[in-house]
Amino acid sequence: MAHIHIIEDKNGDAVDQLVFCSDFCHQDYCLPKGTYRGWYGCIEISFNEPCANCNNLVQGILNFADLDQTLEEFEQAKIKWESENTVTQRIYP
Ligand SMILES: [Zn+2]
Repeated sequence: MAHIHIIEDKNGDAVDQLVFCSDFCHQDYCLPKGTYRGWYGCIEISFNEPCANCNNLVQGILNFADLDQTLEEFEQAKIKWESENTVTQRIYP
């Protein structure tokens, strides 16, 4: 389960997101920048992704990846998965 920080453009549209392992890391990363807007956790993500703050891997729900793999192995597995699966929509809340 991930904690998410949505990045919006000047029109308020979601353009990207940061993934954190915990609300602690979300606050640690965003509070100094003044961008923290409250708890936004318990979010399932598709792929393991490194926490934007502490770099620990946050577990994705697709289990081709494991917590012991390197970032390079993760990227290769992600590219392989995406080549085999058409991602038609990226869902933002
Ligand atoms: Zn973290």
